Amino acid sequence: MASEKDAALAAVPSGSPTIFDKIINKEIPANIVYEDDKVLAFRDIAPQAPVHVVIIPKVTDGLTGISKAEEKHTEILGRLLYTSKLVAKQEGLEDGFRLVINDGPKGCQSVYHLHIHLLGGRQMNWPPG
Ligand code: 5GP
Repeated sequence: MASEKDAALAAVPSGSPTIFDKIINKEIPANIVYEDDKVLAFRDIAPQAPVHVVIIPKVTDGLTGISKAEEKHTEILGRLLYTSKLVAKQEGLEDGFRLVINDGPKGCQSVYHLHIHLLGGRQMNWPPG
């Protein structure tokens, strides 16, 4: 199986539907931990920590990645961050957690549908790899 870095280097930001759209549309299964009208959160298929949840907007509106953010996206960006906090609490991460947004090939982004990684349940290190 290709590493996450290999997957990121091979990924093409085409703007076409991604695997996350299939999860939103329930075309493929996912372990969903939170859902509302705008946001979906589900467990990552390749967890990098005991808790690893991916938090995404249901509609990207061109937000394939954080580098594509425009003024019109500020509301959904705030909502995603707030949802990250809600899910962290729901997952019992009282002692801390990490939020990550990968962007572009050098940022190790492999899925071009904006998402926040919520990682927790172990001691994080710094600097990240
Ligand atoms: P990125 O590397 O783009 O920041 O993060 C994409 C994440 O999506 C990766 O951590 C990867 O494991 C996860 N992922 C990719 N495909 C699937 C899938 O089909 N289901 C789930 N639950 N996660 C996925």
